[in-house]
Amino acid sequence: MVRPTHAVVDLERLTANYREIGRYLARAGRLPVPRIIAVIKANAYGHGAVAVGRALEQAAASGSAVVPILACADIEEGVELRRAGVTSPILVFGALSVSNLAGVFDYDLTPTVSSPSAAQALEHAAASRGVHLGVHLKIDTGMHRFGFRHDNLRTTLPEVVRSSHLTIEAVYTHFATAEQYGEPLFDVQRARFDQVRTDASALGLQDVWWHAANSGALLRDQRTWYDAVRPGLLLYGVEPPTLDTELDLYPVMSLRSRVAAVKG
Ligand SMILES: *Cc1c(COP(=O)(O)O)cnc(C)c1O
Repeated sequence: MVRPTHAVVDLERLTANYREIGRYLARAGRLPVPRIIAVIKANAYGHGAVAVGRALEQAAASGSAVVPILACADIEEGVELRRAGVTSPILVFGALSVSNLAGVFDYDLTPTVSSPSAAQALEHAAASRGVHLGVHLKIDTGMHRFGFRHDNLRTTLPEVVRSSHLTIEAVYTHFATAEQYGEPLFDVQRARFDQVRTDASALGLQDVWWHAANSGALLRDQRTWYDAVRPGLLLYGVEPPTLDTELDLYPVMSLRSRVAAVKG
C-alpha cells in the first residue's frame, strides 16, 4: 500500500532563507560582509544535498544571491555533489581517517585538517601526486570533538605551516553550546579562539580567513562572525530555540497527507 503522506521540500524557500541570511549579515554594516558557508551535511539535514546545492548555485548564477561555499560532513558526500555537477567550493568538515583521501584530489574538495597526523597524511598524499592542496585547519576550543588543541599550537602548528604541499586557507572552530544561554563555555570558546588568532601569526600563519559561527552563534553574537559564518539550521528555516531574531525565515520542509477521518 502506498500511503498518501509525503515530505515536500520547497527550494524557493531555501533560497529565500539563504538570501535573508545574506541580508541580515549585510545589515550589520561590517565590511567586508562575512561570507556564507552553507552547511549541507547529512544530505542537507534530510532535504537532499544535491538539490539544495544546485538551488544555491542557481540563485547565485541568476545574480539574486551571493556565491555559496558548501560544507559537508565527509569526502563521500562531497564526491556525490561533484558527480551531480556542483561546482562551488566544498569544505569537508569531518575527520579524514574514516574516508578515502583520493576523493579530495579527484573531486577538488577542501578538507579539514584536525590533527597533526591528518596533516601529515594529506601532505604525503599531495606530495605523491605532485599537487598543492588548500585546507582549513580546525581548532578545538572546548567542544572536545575534532581539532588541534587551542593551547598546544606552539608544538603542533609550525610543522603544518611548513608543509610544502598544503596551504592553510582558513582556520575555524565549532561552539558546543551556542544555543544554550547562560552556559559560560560559549564565551570561553570565543576568547580562546581570539587568543589563537593572536598566537597564530606569531607561529607563521598569515593571510588566512577565520570562521566559527553555526546558526546559534550567528544569531547570538556578531563577534563570532569573523570572515565567514556556517549556518545549517537557519537555511532550512529552523531557528534554534530561545533565540529571538529579526530574521524572516520559512520552513523548507513540510509534511503533507490526506485526512483519513473527521469526527463531528
Ligand atoms: C553542523 C555544523 C554546522 C551548522 O550547525 P547549525 O547549528 O545547523 O547551524 C556548522 N559548523 C560545523 C562544523 C558543523 O558540524
